[in-house]
Formats: sequence, C-alpha cells, structure tokens
Amino acid sequence: MNNPMIVLVTGGNKGIGREITAQLAALGHTVVIGARSLDRGEATAAQLRLTGGDVTAVALDVTDPATVAAAAATIRGKFGRLDALVNNAGISHQPGADFAGQVPRFADVNHVRSVFETNVFGVITVTSAFLPLLRLSTTPRIVNVSSSAGSLASISDFANTDPIALGYVPSKTALTAVTMMYARDLVSEGILVNAVCPGFVATDLNNHRGIRTPAEGAASAVRMATIEAGGPTGTFTDDQGPVAW
Ligand code: NDP
Repeated sequence: MNNPMIVLVTGGNKGIGREITAQLAALGHTVVIGARSLDRGEATAAQLRLTGGDVTAVALDVTDPATVAAAAATIRGKFGRLDALVNNAGISHQPGADFAGQVPRFADVNHVRSVFETNVFGVITVTSAFLPLLRLSTTPRIVNVSSSAGSLASISDFANTDPIALGYVPSKTALTAVTMMYARDLVSEGILVNAVCPGFVATDLNNHRGIRTPAEGAASAVRMATIEAGGPTGTFTDDQGPVAW
C-alpha cells in the first residue's frame, strides 16, 4: 500500500462519494467526509468505522465559503496537511425537483445557476481553500468527479433528450476544463490534478436509473486519488482509459 494518506471527499455521505470513501478507507487511508449535513456525514462515517475504516466527517457545503474555510481549518488543526482532495459533490436538479423533469427545459436560469454553483464554482471554492493544505503534502493530488455527459464530443446526445441537461451537462464541460487549467497551473508544484468519469451509476442523482453500482463508479476516483507521485496530471479518464472531452 502507499503510505496512509489524509483524504477529503466532498459529498462523501452517499452515492459514489460514499463508495470512494469506503474504498479509500479499506486501503488504510484516513478519510474525511465533507458533508453539507453534518448529521448525514457523521452517520455515514459511523457506518464505515464499523468495518474498520478511519473515517470522520466535517460540515462542508461547497456553495458556502464559510463552511469550506471552517472545514479547512478543522483539517489543518487535526492533521496539519491534506494529501488528496476528491471533489465529488454534485447535483443535477434543484432540491425538491425530480430528475424526470420538474425543471422547465430551456427557461429556468436559476436552475442552471444553482447547478453551476455546486458543480463548478463549488469545486473552485473548495480547491482554493484546500490548496494551502495540499502544498504541505509530499504527494498532493486533486481528483474532480466530472462526467462524459459534458464531453463536447458527445454533447448533442444529451442536450436534447433531458430537461435537466441545460444545467448539468455544461457544468461538467466546464468542470473538466477547470481541471485542465488547475493541472497546468499546479504541475510545477507537483500537484497532480485529474478528472474522472464514474460511468452511469445508480444513485439519487439520476433516481437510480444508472446501470453501474456506486462501487464500480468509485473505482476511477480511487485510482486517481492514489496514483504515485510523478503520475499523470491533466487527464480525464474512466475505467476504460482516456475519455474524449
Ligand atoms: P448523489 O446524489 O448520490 O450524491 C451527491 C453527493 O453530493 C451527496 O452527498 C450530496 O449531499 C452532495 N452534495 C450536493 N450538493 C452539495 C453541496 N452544496 N455541498 C456539499 N455536498 C453536496 O450523486 P452521485 O453519487 O451520483 O454523484 C457524485 C458525483 O458523481 C457528482 O459530481 C456527479 O455529477 C458525478 N457523476 C455521477 C454520475 C452518475 O451516473 N451517478 C455520472 C457521472 C458523474 P446530500 O446528501 O446532502 O444531498
């Protein structure tokens, strides 16, 4: 095993993030769940500790810079550094709206804005807050959980078929591009920054219409969170290898 790492997984309380947390903990790493509901985060952490994992939770809403700063201060105080940041938290629809289309298709800019706030600006907020802690690691890594749904190569397949797509799909296009910008800017510091696609996974995000299990979906993020120093940066991959973006 690699040396035990300190890892933060945003949105680690359920879905793919929960499985990323479980798999990293099973590898012997110390994992902190960043949860917008501390109760939900602590409940998941307690479940994963039952199987021997070193898992705790911290309150962290990626759209609320104050909670992000507080979470960074907590992790600095407890661990003094962060080895890997997994930006997993994401939304596809507004709270209370159902995936099948409560959102007007091309009209609701507030929906699009809320999705970008979480999936893009939230990632930037969290990354900015945790970069100082990543710089204190000897093996710093950032993994952004993006989606091939946002790949320009295939975007027309999604954009016209799903009413939530106007927010979600371009948010992932932007997230992958943001990943590449960070990778370019941080390569001289040895910080590895990569995007992954989990595939179409059955979770609350898509009302469990996905065809993969969360455990299968978590594997790419776990692989990129644990790559050796000097490994790839600026990539977008899934289980099969490079994803066109
Ligand atoms: P889920 O809805 O199951 O889980 C999303 C997680 O993100 C939850 O823990 C949720 O917290 C958290 N979250 C949402 N908003 C915030 C916020 N503002 N601050 C902190 N946490 C937040 O979805 P998935 O597990 O499917 O999604 C995980 C990632 O994988 C997302 O980035 C998604 O876009 C991506 N992805 C998923 C695919 C799929 O097929 N499922 C395909 C491609 C990419 P809470 O419990 O409080 O709601």
